[in-house]
Amino acid sequence: MKEVGNILTDSFGREHNYLRISLTERCNLRCTYCMPANGIQLSPKEHIMTYEEIYTIAKEFVTHGVTKIRLTGGEPLIRKDVLLILEKLAQLPVELAITTNGVIVDKFIKQFKEYGIQKINVSLDSLNIDKNKGITRRDYFAKVYHNIQLLVKEGFEVKVNCVLMKGFNDNEIIDFIELTKHQPLQIRFIEFMPFDGNEWNMEKLVSLEEILQEVYSHYDTNHFIRLHDLPNDTAKNYKIKEYQGSFAVISSVTNPFCDSCNRIRLTANGQLKNCLFSTSESDILTPLRNGEAIAPIIEKVLLSKKKVRNGMNTIEKFKNLKIHSKNRSMIAIGG
Ligand code: SAM
Ligand code: SF4
Repeated sequence: MKEVGNILTDSFGREHNYLRISLTERCNLRCTYCMPANGIQLSPKEHIMTYEEIYTIAKEFVTHGVTKIRLTGGEPLIRKDVLLILEKLAQLPVELAITTNGVIVDKFIKQFKEYGIQKINVSLDSLNIDKNKGITRRDYFAKVYHNIQLLVKEGFEVKVNCVLMKGFNDNEIIDFIELTKHQPLQIRFIEFMPFDGNEWNMEKLVSLEEILQEVYSHYDTNHFIRLHDLPNDTAKNYKIKEYQGSFAVISSVTNPFCDSCNRIRLTANGQLKNCLFSTSESDILTPLRNGEAIAPIIEKVLLSKKKVRNGMNTIEKFKNLKIHSKNRSMIAIGG
């Protein structure tokens, strides 16, 4: 039950101490599963949160118990004032992390160290140059691959996010795991999720079960270890015994992890979302600009959070694309 006085606890007793902030709806890549082929209608510039507004909202969340903030997008690092945002947020008593496509991440190493950013997730869906070009609709594979190695060398905790799709990159599962042999990397295989305009269907998805089958067929069971998952972890974690790194599966479709969800999302245009799949949003930016208190809005958003995936508690409900078309595209939510 809800604890009196804690606005970040929802009606199911889940405490939300993890805020994900999208800094921009723009991106220097065009990943097919994230950005619709025809692009998206960008919010007018004046509707995008300024760095001061991001800081003010983040501070309010921290006052109420948020201990971790992840910056995402779009591509967070292409925002012109990203360094100002990092500098401001680094003043808060939180763990600051970032999710990036890695294209220009090498330019920020010094500042990440200065602002105590240790955890960096980089997206890379294929180890093949042409396939990468196909999925991102841009040609940056070499840069991203190099930057991943650089981040590891510089001592960051690097996770590589890989969205698996049948017939496209599902034959690269072992190649990705092999990257963990000599490097302390974590590869995270993500089940392809439905969002507005991304032409999702269940047949394209590579499930947790299918991923594990591939792993079992390649590695000796004595060498394959299931690791303990951390509380609130969205991923199921594994490791090949003698390898330096590890791998994980984020199975939001076939095995949702809503029971331990501690996340709340703030979009670049100042809308709160209580679930990645929620079809409704609450404007927090306009009230902030009007000088109104935002804590009651945060509380209301969390009280309306459903138990499982915005009410889609069965795979049948989840497969209904009409529901997802009422949501935004991933690029505009902030993954
Ligand atoms: N631009 C940054 C990046 O690519 O890492 C941050 C934003 S991106 C939206 C965050 C994460 O969401 C990426 O790891 C991306 O692979 C993932 N993502 C985007 N669309 C997805 C989908 N339809 N299903 C699963 N994961 C998705
Ligand atoms: Fe851009 Fe990241 Fe979306 Fe790819 S996944 S289009 S890099 S925001």
